[in-house]
Amino acid sequence: MSRTNSTYQASPQNFFPFSYEETIGESAPDDFLYVKDNHLGSVLATVSDRKLPVESTSTPGTVAYYLADVTSATDMYSGGMQMPGRSFNSNSYRYGHNTQEKDDEIFNGAYTAEFWEYDSRSLRRWNRDPIVKAWESPYAAFSNNPVRNNDVKGNTDDPANTKNVVVDPGHGGKDPGTEKRTGKKDEADIVLEIANAINDRLKVLNTEYIDAKTNVTNTRTEDVFPSLKERADISKAAQADLFVSVHVNSAPDPEADYVSVITQPGANDVSKTLQTNIANAFNGVVQTKQGIYSNADNAEQNLSVLRNQNASTGAVLVEVGFITNPKQEDLLNNPNYLKNIGNSIAEAIFKTAYPNAVKKLDIPPLPAPSVRSYIWQD
Ligand SMILES: [Zn+2]
Repeated sequence: MSRTNSTYQASPQNFFPFSYEETIGESAPDDFLYVKDNHLGSVLATVSDRKLPVESTSTPGTVAYYLADVTSATDMYSGGMQMPGRSFNSNSYRYGHNTQEKDDEIFNGAYTAEFWEYDSRSLRRWNRDPIVKAWESPYAAFSNNPVRNNDVKGNTDDPANTKNVVVDPGHGGKDPGTEKRTGKKDEADIVLEIANAINDRLKVLNTEYIDAKTNVTNTRTEDVFPSLKERADISKAAQADLFVSVHVNSAPDPEADYVSVITQPGANDVSKTLQTNIANAFNGVVQTKQGIYSNADNAEQNLSVLRNQNASTGAVLVEVGFITNPKQEDLLNNPNYLKNIGNSIAEAIFKTAYPNAVKKLDIPPLPAPSVRSYIWQD
């Protein structure tokens, strides 16, 4: 195949500001395609692994240099429409905006995905979304933000800004945690209940706000014991934006009666924001005589699960009260008290992840489409 009939010369100055590239297709050695796409996942260019030799004019019969074998190239507006006259395709490469399949039989700039037909001129779908959402038009695509959001299949408004949260209920399995009175709950069981409440509340918050979604990983969901290193490794693997370890405290003095929100010495700003937000959310929720400890003097500790996180992770450890204080222990055996603590930690996590999140309007869904709504009326 020849490049000479194309509007694109395969030279670097005709390339675009690609943010990353990936390799697709390895069916045959000659068949490598290198995809150049931008931050929207729009395919801007594909390059095969062939080198096109150019004969030297001064020394005929020798190769002066090689050109890249560009198989397709497209410049796009941000909604994914091809810029007129600025696309080239040598072998019918089928994908474009958001890695969706082009639908050029319809018009230049139409895309089709499993669940929609997308019109990149108006930045809307032109079929009606069968999933009824109370807060937006059935013709909305990409949650009305095709620059920010990815939705390759057309079935979900998956915000590109999902935040990874790791919840770490301490102890478990062979390690029940700090000592309890007979007939009372273990620390390991108390913190698991709180972790479950955090999970439940975050799920609800995900549905209540626009363009905000936490993705939660738990270091344990039952009575088992991951080591401290394993807990930190789980968090690293999940690429946690935020990490919260939940514990119950103990002290020789049965009068000890405070709640701590602890960060690592030298903690990053996200950790400190999370610390402050949790302490604020605890206000009026936790019952403690000596207050909520959440500053450098009283709530900074060098702890393995906090120390061994990725550098960008906001990480805190909460001690939600003293099991060695009989009054506190009674509170920590009250399921409602634990639920409220879990809820407030979840709200603080969400607030830290999305300080400017906007609530969806509480309006009833549009009526289901009827046959009449498809008929033009005069
Ligand atoms: Zn503990």
